[in-house]
Amino acid sequence: NPSAATGTIKTTCPYCGVGCGVLATRQADNSVTIAGDPDHPANFGRLCSKGSALGETISLEGRLLHPEIDGTRANWDQALDLVATRFRAAIAEHGPQSVAIYGSGQLLTEDYYVANKLMKGFIGSANIDTNSRLCMASSVAGHKRAFGSDTVPGNYEDLEQADLIVLVGSNLGWCHPVLYQRIVAARAARPEMKVVLIDPRRTVSADIAEMHLPIAPDGDSALFVGLLAHLDQLGAVDSDYVAAYTTGIEAAVLTAEDWPVARVAEATGLSPLSITRFYDLFTRTRKVVTVFSQGVNQSAAGTDKVNAIINCHLATGRIGKPGMGPFSVTGQPNAMGGREVGGLANMLAAHMDFTPEAIDRVGRFWGAADVAQGPGLKAVDLFAAMARGEIKAVWIMATNPVDSMPEADAVRDALRACPFVVVSDMNRNTDTMALAHVRLPAAGWGEKDGTVTNSERRISRQRPFMPLPGEARPDWWIIKEVARRLGFGQAFAYFGPAQIFAEHAALSGFENDGGRDFDLSGLVGADYETMAPTQWPVRSRPAARMFGDAKFFTPDGKARFVPVQPPPPFAPSPGVLMLNTGRVRDHWHTMTRTGKAARLSAHMAEPFVEIHPADANALGIRRAHLVRLSNRHGVAVVRALVTDRQRRGELFVPMHWTDQFASEGRVDALVPGKTDPVSGQPALKMAQVHAEPM
Ligand code: SF4
Repeated sequence: NPSAATGTIKTTCPYCGVGCGVLATRQADNSVTIAGDPDHPANFGRLCSKGSALGETISLEGRLLHPEIDGTRANWDQALDLVATRFRAAIAEHGPQSVAIYGSGQLLTEDYYVANKLMKGFIGSANIDTNSRLCMASSVAGHKRAFGSDTVPGNYEDLEQADLIVLVGSNLGWCHPVLYQRIVAARAARPEMKVVLIDPRRTVSADIAEMHLPIAPDGDSALFVGLLAHLDQLGAVDSDYVAAYTTGIEAAVLTAEDWPVARVAEATGLSPLSITRFYDLFTRTRKVVTVFSQGVNQSAAGTDKVNAIINCHLATGRIGKPGMGPFSVTGQPNAMGGREVGGLANMLAAHMDFTPEAIDRVGRFWGAADVAQGPGLKAVDLFAAMARGEIKAVWIMATNPVDSMPEADAVRDALRACPFVVVSDMNRNTDTMALAHVRLPAAGWGEKDGTVTNSERRISRQRPFMPLPGEARPDWWIIKEVARRLGFGQAFAYFGPAQIFAEHAALSGFENDGGRDFDLSGLVGADYETMAPTQWPVRSRPAARMFGDAKFFTPDGKARFVPVQPPPPFAPSPGVLMLNTGRVRDHWHTMTRTGKAARLSAHMAEPFVEIHPADANALGIRRAHLVRLSNRHGVAVVRALVTDRQRRGELFVPMHWTDQFASEGRVDALVPGKTDPVSGQPALKMAQVHAEPM
């Protein structure tokens, strides 16, 4: 990374999907000062607490600085040779489906592209999935069902132009703080703008909401199916738009007619009056943006929830226009980039699926004869297959599934039993790294060079400002060196991320006559070093706002309504509480970075469980005392936070703490591996647990 010099560098925050621009200045003593980039269109200079503390998290404490084999320092050749030898042997003996890569929304697009190309193009298996499966796979599936493509239609300025913002399953105030700040500023300028929060918990985001609907877990489908019926009954459907640009409303409305307000009230736990008030507000407000996040996606019915929301926007023609539309906000810094390269097991590359035409097209572009012919194992299925002994070699990149996957204890057991585990990561002390046979030191934020895509489809550069420490290397380099040793050197003769990005952009435009949404062909040949934040599509001719022309990426060009049948209301067994999980304001994932900043840890010092006072009383749980949560999957011990922000019968525990930071604080040990049948995304917000005082 030759540009890692002193001076101010424009880069991008490595945390959430807002994708804020950051100015990083390395001082002569190697300390780093951080400021928001006033020119970046995601944040215009704003940063949240995590972003502004980035300079406090770049120490080398806890870094993996040299390759290791079975815990002993090795050199790069030894480690890479062993990885290639063991992968080759597994493939020769058990076939390409016996190996896998599990990646991360922390990878840069270039890293992701090379990993995906290696697995799907040259190893010939689609067993490459990612922690993004845990984040937004249901949005991907919902978009594809409705639009024929995984297209997020929204732009951030829509949030400022809307007259009504509906936040569904999103604590934007803590999880996407700069978007929240933008809404707060817009409301100050236009007090008539309204916000509705739909969330089982009264989170900090309720502070800006005129209306908080404390919905029952998984009640979202019923609420939005009922809204479609309400729109239809009131004659609020935009029949011209629907007739010209959509198909399937009849079936969707027919299903919705079975959901009058009284039944919606039963399914959601909301009062008929509050439901009607929300429906009326939605109906009479033209400019509506519905923002949804993990409360929608992390569900066994997540894809249906996404389509129930999109149906209401299609029915009213509120999509593809300023200040309106359904808007999925991604959790991770590069969840979108991973989707773009095809870094999910059910996608091929560049937003192409495993159709015969796409397999042929991608194979010709890559010069690959053995392109995977169909989807591979999604995250939960991948670790289940590993537990059954079907995965003989796995490579985990930049993520910590031993703490973040559902049934985390079973995932740990599966990795212990896997014959060959490679982990490439910047951190040495994760629970996943502890199980690796080969440890590969990866470059971290501030050292890496590449691109990320944020929630509004904006591609921004991450640029290095620190030298590579020890023997750390960028992920793309590590992957291409293994590819070379597997005999694919010619297709992986990369000398840097600019070349990889150019190839990625060229693939997106290869034989793309506009029939596919993702197209970066206008960036082929662009100056990578100086590339400004850019929203896709970037075709050679100017692109309209996504769906501004009401042309969708289905065979007939029309958007599709999806009939949604809401699940029956969930009735937990007596004595069992429903466990919801999520983020806190100042920590990120399993705290490998934010855990280094004392001021971030000061906000929430230890894992806790939010519990309603009535439940706490009934169970003998006292304020600030320890609570043991358990079910057949595992145990977690957390501090009681007794609060009426929480609905009765339900609990909330943050997802961040690992055994490294709090003994028995791993909440994902309690979460079952139940998934959405369409997207494969696990229901991370619906575990059943027993709670008892300690
Ligand atoms: Fe980083 Fe997200 Fe905060 Fe922006 S809002 S500074 S991207 S964590």
